[in-house]
Amino acid sequence: MKKRLTATREVLSDLRDDFSLCGKCKLCQACHVQEVEHARFWRNCPAGTRFRFDNYYASGRMEMARAYELCEIEATPGLIHSLYTCMLCGSCQQQCFPLKQINPLRVTELMRETAVREGWGPLPEHQPALDNLEEHDNLLGLPQADRGKWAEGLGLKSAAQEEVDILIFTGCHYSYKEGLIPAARSAARLLASTGARVGILGEGELCCGAPLLELGDRDWFETFAWENIQRINATQAKTVVTLCPHCASVFSEEYAPELEAEVMHASQVISQAIKEKKIQPNHEVAQKVAWHDPCRLGRRLGIYDPPRRILASLPGLEMVELPRHRGNTLCCGNGGMAAYAFPDYGEWVAQERVFEAEFTGAESLATSCPWCEEMLRQGAKARGSDLVVENLFTLLEKGIGGEER
Ligand code: SF4
Ligand code: SF4
Repeated sequence: MKKRLTATREVLSDLRDDFSLCGKCKLCQACHVQEVEHARFWRNCPAGTRFRFDNYYASGRMEMARAYELCEIEATPGLIHSLYTCMLCGSCQQQCFPLKQINPLRVTELMRETAVREGWGPLPEHQPALDNLEEHDNLLGLPQADRGKWAEGLGLKSAAQEEVDILIFTGCHYSYKEGLIPAARSAARLLASTGARVGILGEGELCCGAPLLELGDRDWFETFAWENIQRINATQAKTVVTLCPHCASVFSEEYAPELEAEVMHASQVISQAIKEKKIQPNHEVAQKVAWHDPCRLGRRLGIYDPPRRILASLPGLEMVELPRHRGNTLCCGNGGMAAYAFPDYGEWVAQERVFEAEFTGAESLATSCPWCEEMLRQGAKARGSDLVVENLFTLLEKGIGGEER
């Protein structure tokens, strides 16, 4: 019998109060104007901004959920399109919940779970990613035996065989993607430089399952989650450090009750190490840098300050805030698995974010999420922008004179 992580599962009807009480006030459609200085940057729902009709905003999706739950409407192609163009960025939740105590993001997530349960979701365009997960246990469809290759030569411990203090959970993108591996290596070197015994699971690490949960397939997500939990607990590591905010969010929200290790994102551990002077940036990094808050790291987990403290520790670095920052951050365009099905739409959102960074006069846009890094680079390229998209940890390594050569 499959092990369930959650004793009682939430289903769409449990959120009936939320979607029934939605007042159609549409506060979820944009940032609160008193918090974002420039009107050009008020709009903050990627799906609604792109596709315009109300059903692409949380306000409309709440009505769709209510009507679908009461069997007033069916899962038409239009409904499915609006459901899977949502980037699950959580801006609607940020605008709505503090004022109304209503959870539009959760309604969308549970609509997707309904779609999968009833067989009308996800989309055919998601199938290659699902095939990769089924055949290779990772999102990229690459050999699982190569999952630990990113760390070759770093001297990390094999956590399945050796005792570790910190277990790095690398995630699919940082494990395999050429353009992202340098960031994973920087983070690993920085963590090891604190004196902790740092290890990885290598080929023993599976996809965290976040993409499945985002698409609405909770059953399948739980099989990945349960297998990872067994393997992580077997290492007896005190702390599991995730490099990817998507891993961090499912670990904190879903794995946590069964996980014996404390879950932290790398930015939290490294920012603390700087505070304790275990890492001391002393090389000039004369750059004007804008920080992009990844939705999962910021809005979802509330990790806003550690990355800013890391940037502030770099001598010569000038950090600027984007007009949409912290709780008002704009999705990079790669959230909710939407760009898998609608790549032009994802790139369109990324270009908007790059434009916003250019508006501040920043030379580079730093972040700490593989999904964001990749999509923002794509956006910068599509815009023909000179803006450089940097990873937080490679930037920090410049500040200690130890970047990868
Ligand atoms: S989801 Fe919340 S903010 Fe949006 S229309 Fe409904 S009540 Fe208003
Ligand atoms: S989660 Fe993001 S993309 Fe989806 S409706 Fe809310 S603000 Fe729009």
